[in-house]
Amino acid sequence: MLTEVTKIRLIVGLVVTGLLAGTLFITRGANVFSSRQTPFLKAAGASLAPELVPGTWINSEPLTLKGLRGKVVVIDFWTFGCYNCRNTLPFVKAWSDRYASKGLVVVGVHSPEMEEEQKIENVRREVASLGIRYPVVTDNDYANWKAFNVDAWPTVIVIDKAGRVRWTHVGEGAYAETEQIIQKLIAEDETQARAGEKDMTEKIVKTDEEWRKELTPEQYEVLRKAGTERAFTGAYWDNHEKGVYYCAACGQKLFSSDTKFDSGTGWPSYYQPLSEKSVDREGDNSYGMERTEVRCHRCGSHLGHVFDDGPAPTGLRYCMNSLALKFVKDAK
Ligand SMILES: [Zn+2]
Repeated sequence: MLTEVTKIRLIVGLVVTGLLAGTLFITRGANVFSSRQTPFLKAAGASLAPELVPGTWINSEPLTLKGLRGKVVVIDFWTFGCYNCRNTLPFVKAWSDRYASKGLVVVGVHSPEMEEEQKIENVRREVASLGIRYPVVTDNDYANWKAFNVDAWPTVIVIDKAGRVRWTHVGEGAYAETEQIIQKLIAEDETQARAGEKDMTEKIVKTDEEWRKELTPEQYEVLRKAGTERAFTGAYWDNHEKGVYYCAACGQKLFSSDTKFDSGTGWPSYYQPLSEKSVDREGDNSYGMERTEVRCHRCGSHLGHVFDDGPAPTGLRYCMNSLALKFVKDAK
């Protein structure tokens, strides 16, 4: 038989466990820190979305983004146990209902966090009971989550008719804004969506407050405060995949993997930018060093520095911060 003390301990234990579980749940929901979004990108500044990695499809035959070209696609990264995701669902469902006949396809990518969210039968049950009629694909190995660089639930990504990511919103909110973007992209002509590079010469000017909202704190520190990430910590210093590196702040094309080389410095290094016009170089005497700072020509964000100890053919070493870049793998 339990003594009074043991009983009290048990109760305290249960309460504490409950509190912890509650905190965990909140942390996970609030994993979004605060909601944030990327700027709405013009067609020319937007990069191609990675292809969906197959999982189990609910409500649909398997879909590919390539097969959905010509449609506007909304991808909602969610998991059924996340209450922020559940709060977002009514809006996502409404977009699907309102715009499916006008050329919108909503895809729910179910990236689970808890064990019970990994079980297909649970996902099927929740999809049905939540009244989700649009296609949902399971993402148990986080292949889609990683391919789209998602880091919090829920994340809504809007893709244009040409398959480019034009808008990303993390967390709850911005529903009206997202809906306007859906309308805008539906109205956009596909050839317009494939428009050339000319828009990229247009300068982007934003307030410090706007940048702070759009970028993660780490990106903000590098791009807007000329910070430097620690060597060997970034996402790209050891990336050997073929593709294009874009400005993480404005989406301008900056470097090709063809000009990337192993500098041994722990930062992604290139011997030349894709276009001389895409970057600005300025003298930088901070920290008692004479260096040449490299900034994005379009948005003025700090990218890194350029040194004259690089390989042929230019002899230059563009030493960049991974945080300032966004890599998009070449489509196979
Ligand atoms: Zn930029």
